[in-house]
Amino acid sequence: MKISVKGLEISACHGVLDFEKVTPQPFIFDIVMDVDCDDGAREDEISKTVDYSAVCALAERVTRQRVRNLIENLARDCAFAILENFERVNSVAVTVGKPQAPMDCKFGCVYATFEAKRRNAVLSLGSSEGDRRATLDSAIEKISSLGGVKVKKVSSFIETAPYGGVAKNNFINCALIAECFLSARELLALLQGIEKELGRKRLRRWDDRTIDIDIIFFGDEVIAEEGLAVPHPHYAERDFVIRPLKEICPEFVCPLTHRVVKDL
Ligand code: ADP
Ligand code: MG
Repeated sequence: MKISVKGLEISACHGVLDFEKVTPQPFIFDIVMDVDCDDGAREDEISKTVDYSAVCALAERVTRQRVRNLIENLARDCAFAILENFERVNSVAVTVGKPQAPMDCKFGCVYATFEAKRRNAVLSLGSSEGDRRATLDSAIEKISSLGGVKVKKVSSFIETAPYGGVAKNNFINCALIAECFLSARELLALLQGIEKELGRKRLRRWDDRTIDIDIIFFGDEVIAEEGLAVPHPHYAERDFVIRPLKEICPEFVCPLTHRVVKDL
């Protein structure tokens, strides 16, 4: 069910110009949520839906938290905060309007809209160089502290033989499920940043590496773009991916092949 709050007005200091950072002006919010509340609607029970007054209070807290340059940034943080704090919200679009934006022209209002969705990302991690377990632990720690990502389940670590005929060392592999409010592209960029921080060098394909983090599934999305393929094209042929997946998400249905993980 869609639940919306429109025209919520919050006075705060945001803007690129110096005077905007110290002078409050109105910001107008339209918040449109897709809420899992069929039971609440049927039973007429507020605890089984989203309390929209709490959503407004949260938007106010986020808006007053700090001075920002951009309404884009404010809309994004509000959207993530709503998904993080209200489990029944599956997706949200937050529009922030700035009716008194300092411009030398006559206009109604300037708006920025940010849309975010709750998804379970399934990641596969592997390490074959250095202190492999410590590197995996540290990668998981870094993934957990990304904004808009919550690690929910981590598989056990397994030792596996190198794959592809290039790497010489054994790998330690694992997989994890993370609730993710970011787009797949943004998640990939952040994961590549973590790989770099942990000393990943890209020399030869399939070579030994301190850390490799791949996106195996991203909710039910199927993506085939330059530099990003989800579900990961070769996951079903790789035992070092499948074994951890069977442990953490045996019932997951691949959105591309419609095969169930436990049957792979
Ligand atoms: P591999 O994981 O195949 O051993 P790399 O980690 O070096 O090799 O990744 C090579 C490229 O694969 C990256 O530049 C990335 O853009 C691309 N890629 C495509 N789809 C995915 C995905 N689902 N997860 C991670 N990387 C991906
Ligand atoms: Mg990779």
